[in-house]
Amino acid sequence: TAVTEQQATAKKYVQSVFETISKRNHHEPEFLQAVKEIVDSLIPVFEKQPQLMELGILERISEPERVVYFRVPWVDDKGKVQVNRGYRVQFNSALGPYKGGLRFHPSVNASIIKFLGFEQIFKNSLTGQPIGGGKGGSDFDPKGKSDNEIMRFTQSFMTELYKYLGPDVDVPAGDIGVGAREIGFMFGQYKRIRGGHEAGVLTGKGLGYGGSLARKEATGYGTVYFVQEMLASKGLSFNGSRVVVSGSGNVSIYAIEKAQQLGAHVVACSDSNGYIIDEDGIKLDTVKRLKEEERKRISDYVLEHPNAVYVEGCQGIWSVACDIALPCATQNEIDENDAAKLIEGGVKAIGEGANMPSTLEAIDVFLKNDVLFGPAKAANAGGVAVSSLEMSQNSMRLSWTFEEVDAKLHIIMKNIYDNSVKAAEEFGYPGNLVVGANIAGFMRVANAMVSQGVV
Ligand code: GLU
Repeated sequence: TAVTEQQATAKKYVQSVFETISKRNHHEPEFLQAVKEIVDSLIPVFEKQPQLMELGILERISEPERVVYFRVPWVDDKGKVQVNRGYRVQFNSALGPYKGGLRFHPSVNASIIKFLGFEQIFKNSLTGQPIGGGKGGSDFDPKGKSDNEIMRFTQSFMTELYKYLGPDVDVPAGDIGVGAREIGFMFGQYKRIRGGHEAGVLTGKGLGYGGSLARKEATGYGTVYFVQEMLASKGLSFNGSRVVVSGSGNVSIYAIEKAQQLGAHVVACSDSNGYIIDEDGIKLDTVKRLKEEERKRISDYVLEHPNAVYVEGCQGIWSVACDIALPCATQNEIDENDAAKLIEGGVKAIGEGANMPSTLEAIDVFLKNDVLFGPAKAANAGGVAVSSLEMSQNSMRLSWTFEEVDAKLHIIMKNIYDNSVKAAEEFGYPGNLVVGANIAGFMRVANAMVSQGVV
């Protein structure tokens, strides 16, 4: 029939585009993983809208508009010169200025930054806000560095990066290894070079100089709001649920906070060295102090709460039985074996607070076992959504209250959920939020690209 012919054409098209992308980026596994996940779910789109094939939307959206990488020289506390590499990928500006965080971590390379930038296009689109997709960072390792070393590094980083930024051009924020301290130093350096207070050039700023209330909480809260919607669709809720959250950084801490406010029993969290189990419930004040103020390891938690246990190795956290798992640490932290362990432990819902925390194989395992699965680009979009609200407040030169921002965040997360459910249904994959989020995110960008011509 005609339908299957269209289906076959769309499938062949997607496969051939992916082959070209694979050849061009064969040394970038994380980037290809992110692309693969998107393109496979877009087959029904090209089936219904074949004109998008002719317009080369997929070919264009998978090639960054621009990538810069640059030398970042700085002097350590011993007086020795150090060199790191800086990156910024300006992936897509169809919807607005490039928007996305900066990651400082030794694992950072072109593949990692491109996968994050690519995801960011669709995530930012899902928020409904006027922001394009970008990402950046450095292989600099902030662990064990003094405040002065952090300042010298970030100043050097911004001395090069500033050329590519602007409140209407490209607006970075934080990610792993980049928090309020680093954003502050970078903002200071940008302001000094530009000779003007362009508040909207960075988000995640301190509250005293243009930052938004609830930005710090936004990613974690947003993930929980999203999972709340998934649970409600099955008559479930956080109240009384057993929850495991990986990580103990900014996303993890505020996911735990919101889950606890909703009556969840959060029993485990982790850092890159290992994880803790506290059957009495994680004492969030301790985690906040250890991680946000003292910059210590999560293992120190058990010194203060001897009833809790610390286990070496972060991967083991997925064998802790739970109803709801919130991976909030990093990419590919759940493989198919971890997914199987979670299912053995009775997991009912996964909400991805980190970017691409589940491998493609792990996602398959979750979907095949009917686990409610909230994919990263939908479930963790709250952070960048509030970044966009921070840009709005900066443009208007005012600041909204915590309650106002939180209420807007809540509405945005509900809309992302509803739009993803709707797109999944419309394109023949009812209940599949992976497909739904990918299609809903893609359509808004694709329509803008069509309107703007071949650029
Ligand atoms: N790094 C966050 C993310 O992955 C936030 C980006 C932003 O606020 O621009 O979405």
